[in-house]
Amino acid sequence: MKKVAVIGAGYGGLRAIENLANNKEVSLYLFDENSYHYLQTEAYGYIAGRFDLHDVALDLQNWCHGFKNRVNFIQEKVTFIDSRNNNVQTENGKYDFDYLIIASGARTNFFKQISGLDQYGFGVKKLFRSHGFRTAFEKLLYEKLVEEKSHGKLMNLAIGGAGLSGVEIAAEMADVVARQTKSIGESAQELQIYLIDASETILPGMSEYIINNTQKRLEELGVKIITNSFIDSVDKDTIYFKDKTELEYTFMIFTGGIIANTIEMDKEVQTNRIGQYICNDTLRIDENIFAIGDCAELTSKSGNILPPTAQTAERSAEYVAKSILKLLEEKELQPFKAKVDGVFVALGGYYAVGELFSFIKVKGKFAYILKKLITKSYYIGLKLRLNTGFMKRTSLEKENL
Ligand SMILES: Cc1cc2nc3c(=O)[nH]c(=O)nc-3n(C[C@H](O)[C@H](O)[C@H](O)COP(=O)(O)OP(=O)(O)OC[C@H]3O[C@@H](n4cnc5c(N)ncnc54)[C@H](O)[C@@H]3O)c2cc1C
Repeated sequence: MKKVAVIGAGYGGLRAIENLANNKEVSLYLFDENSYHYLQTEAYGYIAGRFDLHDVALDLQNWCHGFKNRVNFIQEKVTFIDSRNNNVQTENGKYDFDYLIIASGARTNFFKQISGLDQYGFGVKKLFRSHGFRTAFEKLLYEKLVEEKSHGKLMNLAIGGAGLSGVEIAAEMADVVARQTKSIGESAQELQIYLIDASETILPGMSEYIINNTQKRLEELGVKIITNSFIDSVDKDTIYFKDKTELEYTFMIFTGGIIANTIEMDKEVQTNRIGQYICNDTLRIDENIFAIGDCAELTSKSGNILPPTAQTAERSAEYVAKSILKLLEEKELQPFKAKVDGVFVALGGYYAVGELFSFIKVKGKFAYILKKLITKSYYIGLKLRLNTGFMKRTSLEKENL
């Protein structure tokens, strides 16, 4: 029996486990520092108060139990990889492996050169950070509700970074504010959402169709878009731009960049400017060590670097799982050929913009339904496994009473 260890229970890590768990030749070890899988792709709805905690976080121990003793979950942070002796180390011990999959994701890059950003900006790549912003946003809406009368003073909620996550959060919050005007009253309109990016457009790198329709929707929702603007520094209530302009703000979210979560190793490994592992064409950084998802630089068939998405994390996980099974049969590996099927951007309420296979273009409620179908099918798959695991666990506990 070969031991396969997976570091990170995000989109990539879980997909790798799912694709390996049916094989009786391997025993699986899943490491995560957290007890839950965080559905980052749903963070926009959680922050704006549309989704609940159970929509964005699922218990990993129950999920692993759902594989009926095939998957061992170890809730510990991996601090060192010993590639010569084939083991990973945590604060509490050493664990051997035959194959290792690093799926440790990435975190928000609160650029050090922008002073005050880390201190005053909220990130969304960690559940506690999203939760912090959700609480702050809810408190603000509550204060608006109980205010006796409108003060007429605008309160700016600033989102730094107009990539996929920044755009989705801006749209969802603007939609909530628009809808709350009915129940909270006119003072809700004092909340003004700003979306800021250093690039020339929002969603840099995406197609014209997606950019134009997203821009139109954001404007309809009343989001103020500031592009071509570099943030120089931030203090407790003001964002200072390089062109010497300023923006007062009440809360700020930063989604303007990521940095990979790499793990110390006994060998030097090549990484790119945002810390992602540079793998060979079979996604290996060593003979039996693979890197997938946000922590790795993944390229398309044509050699372009792919944006870090859940979709790419899953595709790379499926490829690596298949590769490990091939290696067990002593078969040769084919290079990884990433394929992006499409992109859907949720834009507040029941509205989305999307493209499938680059020729199907959709917007509005239909696009929203398609996006929801994709995220729901992912969620339901996890939930079924979770329910099986939970039932197994509780029946075992009863037996032991
Ligand atoms: C608001 C928002 C919206 C998004 N929308 C979309 C979308 O619509 N479509 C899309 O495809 N993508 C979207 N993304 C991007 C997507 O969420 C990421 O690309 C995806 O989460 C990457 O998956 P991953 O498995 O590589 O890493 P992650 O999901 O980040 O998981 C990494 C895991 O590794 C664990 N970990 C890290 N270091 C260690 C360690 N040393 N030891 C143990 N555990 C460790 C972490 O706790 C975490 O659980 C969105 C992201 C955000 C923030």
